[in-house]
Amino acid sequence: MDVVKIPFNTLKEAINSAFSGKQPWQIVSFTTSAVLFVVWLYDFVDREESLLVRGKKTVFRLARYIPAVRRKVEQELTSINNGFQDDVAKRTSHLEYIVKLPDKGWSKEMILSTLNKNLTLNKETWESGQSSGAVYAHDEVVLDLVAETFKVSSYTNPLHPDLFPGLCKMEAEVIRIVCNLFHGDEESCGSMTSGGTESIMMACKAYRDYARETRGVRKPEMVVPVTAHSAFDKSCLYLGIRMRHIPIDPNTCQVNLKAMKAAINRNTIMLVGSAPNYPYGTIDDISEISKLGLRYNIPVHVDSCLGGLLTVFMNQAGYPPPVTDFRLPGVTSISADTHKYGFAPKGTSVVLYREAKFRHHQYTVTTDWLGGVYGSPSVCGSRAGGNIASCWATLLHYGLEGYITATRDIVHTARHIEKGLRRLKGIFIFGQPATSVVAIGSNDFDIYRLSDGLYKLGWNLNALQYPPGIHICVTLMHTKDGVADKFLQDVKQCLAEIMKDPALPVEGKMALYGTAQQLPDRSIVSDLTRYFLDSMYYIPKLKELQSKRTPANEPMYMPFEPGAAVLLRSLEPIVGMEEMKQFRQGKRASEITKPEKLCDGPSKLCISMDIKKDNCNKLDLGDPDNNMLWVEDDFLMNPDHLSVVKTSRIGIESAGEEWAQKPLRFYIAGDTNFVIWKN
Ligand SMILES: *Cc1c(COP(=O)(O)O)cnc(C)c1O
Repeated sequence: MDVVKIPFNTLKEAINSAFSGKQPWQIVSFTTSAVLFVVWLYDFVDREESLLVRGKKTVFRLARYIPAVRRKVEQELTSINNGFQDDVAKRTSHLEYIVKLPDKGWSKEMILSTLNKNLTLNKETWESGQSSGAVYAHDEVVLDLVAETFKVSSYTNPLHPDLFPGLCKMEAEVIRIVCNLFHGDEESCGSMTSGGTESIMMACKAYRDYARETRGVRKPEMVVPVTAHSAFDKSCLYLGIRMRHIPIDPNTCQVNLKAMKAAINRNTIMLVGSAPNYPYGTIDDISEISKLGLRYNIPVHVDSCLGGLLTVFMNQAGYPPPVTDFRLPGVTSISADTHKYGFAPKGTSVVLYREAKFRHHQYTVTTDWLGGVYGSPSVCGSRAGGNIASCWATLLHYGLEGYITATRDIVHTARHIEKGLRRLKGIFIFGQPATSVVAIGSNDFDIYRLSDGLYKLGWNLNALQYPPGIHICVTLMHTKDGVADKFLQDVKQCLAEIMKDPALPVEGKMALYGTAQQLPDRSIVSDLTRYFLDSMYYIPKLKELQSKRTPANEPMYMPFEPGAAVLLRSLEPIVGMEEMKQFRQGKRASEITKPEKLCDGPSKLCISMDIKKDNCNKLDLGDPDNNMLWVEDDFLMNPDHLSVVKTSRIGIESAGEEWAQKPLRFYIAGDTNFVIWKN
C-alpha cells in the first residue's frame, strides 16, 4: 500500500504547489483545457489511418501548395492523363461513339452488329489464352445455356420473393451447394452477391455490427495479411473500419502469424486469411489463424474468392490442398466467387457463414421508411435474378465431374508452368503456388522488363508491387493445347534478350508502373489512378476532335453506307490514303447547293441541301476547301456540342425514305479539321 501511497502523495503535493496562488477559475480552465487536449490528442492519434500515413499525406499536401511543385505535378499528371485518354481513343478510333438516344429505336441487326464491333476489341488476347485471369472459361455450350437461362429469367428479382419464389429457391440452392463444398454443416448459411468484393464487404459489415452488438466495439479494426485482396481495404473505407495490415514471411509468402497475433486487441472484429491470395496464389496457414480466432473469440474470414472453387475439388483432382474451410472450427465465414472458377457469367459470388447469427448482422433493415419496412440481405436492393439463375444453371451443367476435370486441367497447367519457370535462370517463383496463380520475381533485373517483353509478344500479365513481380493466373483458357508451352517458350525468349544486359531500365508502360511504386507521395499515385478510371469513361469531346488536324490539301470524301457509324476524329488513322483516293475517284455528286446564310460564329457557313432518294445508300460528302465539316440535321442548335453531331449521324443511320426527303445541313468551319460521321 505504501508503495502506491508515496508517489501519489508526492504527485498530490506537486500539483498543489503548481497551482498554489492560482485563482479557482485559472485552475478550472487549465484543467478543462488539459483534458480537452488529451481527448483531442487521443482522437488524433487513434484514427483509421496511422499517424505516420497521415503525417506523410500532410507533408505532401503542403508541398503541393508550393507553386513550382504544383505546376510540375499538374503538368505531369495532365500529360499522363492525356496518355490514358489517347490509349482509349486509339483502341476505339475505328468505332462510333453514341452519345444520344437514337430518335427512332435501332433494328436488332444494327444493335447486334454494333455490339459485336464493340466486343471484338482485343478479343484475340483473351481468347487465345494470353491474358492472366480475366476470362475463366469460354465454352459455346455454356454460353448458349446462359443465354437461354438469361432470356427466361432476366426480369426476375429476388427482392420480390412472393412474385419469384422459384428464383429465391435457386439462390438458396446455389448457397447450399457451395456450403456443402466447403464442408459447412446444416447450420451454415450464406448469401449470393454481385461479386467477390461484395461478398467480402458483407462479411466485414456483419462482423463490424456483430462486434458492436456483442462487445460494444466502437472503433472496429480488422487484422488482414498484406496479401489479402484490396476489397478488404475498400470495405474499411466504406464501413469505417481500421485496417491492420500484417506482413508476410518473404519466403513462404504466407501471413506472419506472430505479427498477426500481436495485432489483435479489444477492437479487433475479424481475422482474415486467403485461400489462396491474389498476388502469389499462396495459401495462408488458415489452420493457425482459425486457432487464433478460437483463442481470442474473434471471427475468422477465409477469402477463397479466387481459388475456392478449385480447392474444393482439388482432392478429387489429385492435388490435395491444405484444409481451409469450415472443417477448421475457428473459420466463421468464407467468400467464394462463382464467377471465377465456378465459370458462371460475371456478377455472382457467395459469402458463407458458419452460423446464422453472422448473416443476421449482414442484413440491413429499416423499419420506418415511408415505403414500408425494408429488409435487404446485401448491398443491392433489386438484384439480377438472371445472374442467379445463370449461376445456378452453370453449376448444374458442370456438375461435380465437370468441375473436377476443369480443376485437374487448370492445376496441372499451373504446375507445368511453375515447373518450367523454376528451371529458368534469372527469375524466381514467389512462395509455393497453391492453385492457379504463379508469381514471378527477379533478383537480377527489373521484372517489369519481362512483363513488357511478354506484352509485346501478346501476353497480358498482372503486375505486382512491393516487391515488384508479375503473375499469371491460369484459367481454362490456358489449358488448351500448346498455350502453356508457348508461354514458357516466350518467357525463355524474353529472358535471353534481357539477360544480355540485365541492368537496363524498363521502358514503355511498365516504366510508369515501376515509377509509381517508388513515388513516396501516394496521393499522386491515387490521382493517376483516378485519371485512369476516368479514361474508362472516355467519350470524345468536340474540342478534341477539332484539334486533330488532317493534312493540308487533302480534302475528304466519305461515303455513307448502311451499317455501323464511325466517328472520324482525323482522317489519317482510319482511312488510308489509298482508300481515300478511291473515294475521290468514285462518283461524288456533291449535293451541296450554295451557301445559304452565315451562322453560329464567324467562320462557319451554313449550307442546306436536299438529298435525293437514290443517294441514300451512298452519299459522298465533299469538302473542297479542306474545311471543317460536320453533319447535322434540322434541329441542330449548338454546333459546339457533340450531341448535335450525334443527332445528325443518327438521322443518317436510320436512313429510309422519310429521311431521304429531309433536308440536312452542313456546317463548314474555316479550319482544316474534320469531324464527320461515316456510315
Ligand atoms: C477476385 C478476388 C476478389 C474480389 O472479387 P471480385 O469478384 O473481383 O470483386 C477477392 N479476393 C481474391 C483473392 C480475388 O482474387
